[in-house]
Amino acid sequence: MTTAPGGLAIQTVRTLLVLGASGDLAARLLLPALGQLLTVEPVRRLRLVGAGSESWDADAWRDRLRTSFGEPNAHGAAVDDLLATTTYQQADLTTDEGLRSVLATCEPPTAIYFALPPAIAVKVCAALERIGTPEGTVLALEKPFGSDEASARRLNDQLLRIVGENQVHRVDHFLGRTTVLNLLGARFANRVLEPLWSSEHIDRIDIVYDEELALENRARYYDHAGALVDMIQSHLLQVLAFVAMEPPATTSEADLRDAKGTVLRATSVWGGDPVASSRRARYTAGRVGDRDIPAYVDEPGVDPANDTETLAEVTLTVANWRWAGVPFTLRSGKALGMRRREIMVTFRPAQHVPVGLEGEAPPDVLHVALAPECILLELNMNGPGDPDTLSREVMRADFDPGRLDAYGEVLRGVLDGDPSLSIRGDTAEECWRILEPVLAAWRSGAVPLEDYPAGSSGPSEWRTGTDVGLIPLADGAARFPAPTSGAGA
Ligand code: NDP
Repeated sequence: MTTAPGGLAIQTVRTLLVLGASGDLAARLLLPALGQLLTVEPVRRLRLVGAGSESWDADAWRDRLRTSFGEPNAHGAAVDDLLATTTYQQADLTTDEGLRSVLATCEPPTAIYFALPPAIAVKVCAALERIGTPEGTVLALEKPFGSDEASARRLNDQLLRIVGENQVHRVDHFLGRTTVLNLLGARFANRVLEPLWSSEHIDRIDIVYDEELALENRARYYDHAGALVDMIQSHLLQVLAFVAMEPPATTSEADLRDAKGTVLRATSVWGGDPVASSRRARYTAGRVGDRDIPAYVDEPGVDPANDTETLAEVTLTVANWRWAGVPFTLRSGKALGMRRREIMVTFRPAQHVPVGLEGEAPPDVLHVALAPECILLELNMNGPGDPDTLSREVMRADFDPGRLDAYGEVLRGVLDGDPSLSIRGDTAEECWRILEPVLAAWRSGAVPLEDYPAGSSGPSEWRTGTDVGLIPLADGAARFPAPTSGAGA
């Protein structure tokens, strides 16, 4: 990677080849992120080649791009340049001929972005191995990476026969989220949080990603993945790694990814018991906000026999000096009544509250919200106007959302040849290793598939643990209130 005056990176990649450019990910996330990146960093000059299943001509492709670029309002010379030179090709990308003819239109070095269903991506990798890639090719693969530890290892072996490890970007866009990146500063750039960041002061950590969205026509993928693979195996384990890692010496690719790898190697199912440490459920018909939601099993494309869970919860241990005895509970689900996207750190109770101070002293809680990006610290203090009474106060700091969305951050890494925000091969395998006992227990039926009405907070008997420290909000819809003017911690 080279750097322009002002510290702006200049990409080493000349062509971005999007395989599966006709698909949902490309339209909704990847291409808008590209438009935003070119707008924010117009120094980039990039050719975009799209390939997919649709038989679009040049005009239809440009229309598709303009629609995707519309949302971030992409504009400027780099965007115009890209729109003038971009091409699209319909091809069966699993065949040698299809792939060869698309690659022939790319000016190397090329970043090949697999915006394809995972099973197709594996076949395309096999074709790439057969036909070879030009010098400097970079590969970007989406989650899920493999379908278990063994298949992830096979895919890693195959990728390494095509390019080197640092040319493989196993994308997890949660790593581009401002909050996740800001965890490094919040933890390691002050002397306040990190000295408390261990089992000595922390009782439990919950990483929660509850969505109000239901299936939204994604049965083809989701009905085979479910909440555990879709969210916890990938995104939430990556967040755990940032929360629990030891301080890296630098934010370089090697230091950061070593620190993540080390902590994930120490992570496993709580008590070695996947049945006692995991729960799964599926939504029945209900109402989320003003929308009627059908039961999951009645959504188009769903096969009830798959027993796919739409809400998953797993408790893990990080068996090292810092974290022994602290449960990490990861939970994610769809069609829930309240959107909650946060890391919740619950501290141990105060050792002794002076006699004479009246009132409850529940555990202090740090909420690191993933969206909107902010930190809230709930502390017990003296009550306003009455120094003898305890009260719960909240300190809040809002993060700037940054100039780029999460996908923009990740895409920048791919184009700059900087894999710091990508998942390293060994880590991709570890994430399967951690959850495989749970997947096996669920497959065997040892963990019952429970029900919850869409619009609820999950099965009623689950309302423990992660509800500790919840700040009651009147509307219930937004977990974190908008900042009042001048708000800050
Ligand atoms: P899609 O099912 O929409 O597939 C992507 C595109 O690839 C479709 O246009 C599809 O065409 C096309 N395609 C399939 N097979 C071939 C082939 N042999 N040759 C050429 N084109 C082909 O997937 P998504 O876009 O939803 O997801 C892509 C990847 O991104 C997946 O790994 C997913 O897990 C990941 N992801 C997706 C997110 C999302 O919100 N969609 C979010 C985060 C990650 P056709 O429809 O005709 O089959």
